Amino acid sequence: MNLFETVKENVKLRQAAENYGFDISRNDMICCPFHNDDSPSLKLYDDHFYCFGCGEHGDVIDFVSKLFSLSPKEAAERLAQDFGICYDSDERTDTSKYRKDSILRRIKASQEKEKENHVYNVLCSYFRLLQDWKHDYAPVSPDDVVDPRFTEALTKSAYIEHLLDRMMAGSKEKGIADGEIVRIEKVVKRHEGNFVTEIQK
Ligand SMILES: [Zn+2]
Repeated sequence: MNLFETVKENVKLRQAAENYGFDISRNDMICCPFHNDDSPSLKLYDDHFYCFGCGEHGDVIDFVSKLFSLSPKEAAERLAQDFGICYDSDERTDTSKYRKDSILRRIKASQEKEKENHVYNVLCSYFRLLQDWKHDYAPVSPDDVVDPRFTEALTKSAYIEHLLDRMMAGSKEKGIADGEIVRIEKVVKRHEGNFVTEIQK
């Protein structure tokens, strides 16, 4: 819990007013220090105050801040000191939270970059593979049964080339489903596997 929450939770308006020298009437009213008040018109509730004369209102930190012309932070620190309240320094909390956020952001960015590079590499390999297929499995005569790899090369090449261009241009949108990448990766791996086996023979 930070300073503000801790102070507000631990110091009631009545306690603060009493501590700073106000006479509190039986119905929790005091003479308002924020306007020229002859009879008590400021009502103290547990967690806030309201003046029926001038309309001034707020929580316990606002009360002390206005009373002593302090910033809200200074008022909270004064209350913490006067009432012996321990709290986490909000600066320390904020800084470590900021640092943590920034580290998480960097990790996320590098993971995204890695994923992007991986997708790019897979698409590049696939594109090279399609170029080979277009050449290797092209029908020789009009009577040949068309090899599905040749068809795939014809239908996919332009699309893959377009995706690679977009990625090179730094587009954040992949423009391709993760599932399709997985399929392509399998195709590429299978081919590379075959290639290695053929070499080893
Ligand atoms: Zn008032």
